[in-house]
Amino acid sequence: MTLHALTILGATGTIGVNTLDVVARHPDRFRVIALTGQNQIEKLAQQCRQFQARYAVVLDADKARALEALLAGSNTEVLVGMEALEYVSSLPEVDSVMAAIVGAAGLRPALAAARAGKRVLLANKETLVMAGRFFMQAVHDHHATLLPIDSEHNAVFQSMPAAYFERGSNRNPAAHGVRRVLLTASGGPFRTRELDTLKDITPEQAIAHPNWVMGKKISVDSATMMNKGLEVIEAHWLFNAPPEQIEVVIHPQSIVHSMVEYLDGSVLAQLSNPDMRTPIAHSLVYPERIEAGVNWLDLARIGTLTFEAPDLRRFPCLGLAYQALAAGGAAPAILNAANEEVVAAFLDKQIPYLAIPATLDAVLQRLAGQPAESLEDLMAADADARIAARELLALDHAHRA
Ligand code: NAD
Ligand code: MG
Repeated sequence: MTLHALTILGATGTIGVNTLDVVARHPDRFRVIALTGQNQIEKLAQQCRQFQARYAVVLDADKARALEALLAGSNTEVLVGMEALEYVSSLPEVDSVMAAIVGAAGLRPALAAARAGKRVLLANKETLVMAGRFFMQAVHDHHATLLPIDSEHNAVFQSMPAAYFERGSNRNPAAHGVRRVLLTASGGPFRTRELDTLKDITPEQAIAHPNWVMGKKISVDSATMMNKGLEVIEAHWLFNAPPEQIEVVIHPQSIVHSMVEYLDGSVLAQLSNPDMRTPIAHSLVYPERIEAGVNWLDLARIGTLTFEAPDLRRFPCLGLAYQALAAGGAAPAILNAANEEVVAAFLDKQIPYLAIPATLDAVLQRLAGQPAESLEDLMAADADARIAARELLALDHAHRA
């Protein structure tokens, strides 16, 4: 049994809380070294006390002072800012980093963990969407171990041949007999809604996911299926699979979490109840297995598993993600950044639901061909995409007013 020393980036979020739930079930297996959060200071303080974290990181000085007051008398040291996030992701005494910050903000600490050769438990798919080539290169160069937390990619990981992940193996899935990667998608809350009523969708309706409880941003992404689009890009980098070998299939019950199809016609899948503690527990102790607090899969009660093809008229964001992946370069980073902006504006009730795909399409067209030779190029593309999205939305406002 291996003892793991953990940093959990985004400890106060949905993935962070689920991670600590699994950790709490196995006090003999884990030490919590660092926990990080942004706004929920009381929750972070409570977590630090419960798990006796050595460090807590927040982003600004005011929050740090408030957290220090809450942690007075404890052994937790409070650190501030992006550099501190990178610091706790690369501490020598840490072997595993759960990267569960939401959005592009998660890139730098995840990269720091990879560069420090950690076991990187990657929930922050935006890291791979923005900078997949550079991140995978860092994992390779620094002998980091990359374990996907996203349920689909965790399922693919479990369904791939073990030899694929061995050091020095040919990272071409076709060389291992893999024909296709099949990513499942629930289809979200609007899978069967009348197409002509999509324009009336409210944030409350969009974040009410039928099967999963998640943060607001990823919940909206699931409703538009941008989440699956980002996951196609994520799968491309994780498994070195060309876009035409990655297929999305809608599976409303969210029991089959994804599949790998082989040349001989075999399809291997990973099934479980939709509970993120399963992929989290898998990655926390890989290649061992531990109890995760998840209910047994009662297939007789579930009865029926169904599958259907996604409709790109209903889910144009999925098509945009395939387009961005095909365009390559900075296009995925542009799509990702613009998406963060439009989703925030939608959650803020500043824009209607259908402005999400329309704005993303316009930003991708406007910024096509931006350079992507370095991480700095991608950061610049990210910033430009945010500006372009805001500009286009402001134009939209003026137009409507
Ligand atoms: P969440 O909104 O519940 O939590 C986000 C966490 O990140 C919080 O701890 C918050 O404090 C922190 N954070 C937010 N903005 C930050 C910033 N600018 N700087 C530093 N920290 C910041 O989100 P979540 O649902 O837990 O998702 C986290 C990541 O995991 C996302 O990338 C998401 O796509 C991915 N993911 C989530 C699920 C899920 O079931 N929730 C499934 C698959 C993948
Ligand atoms: Mg997923």
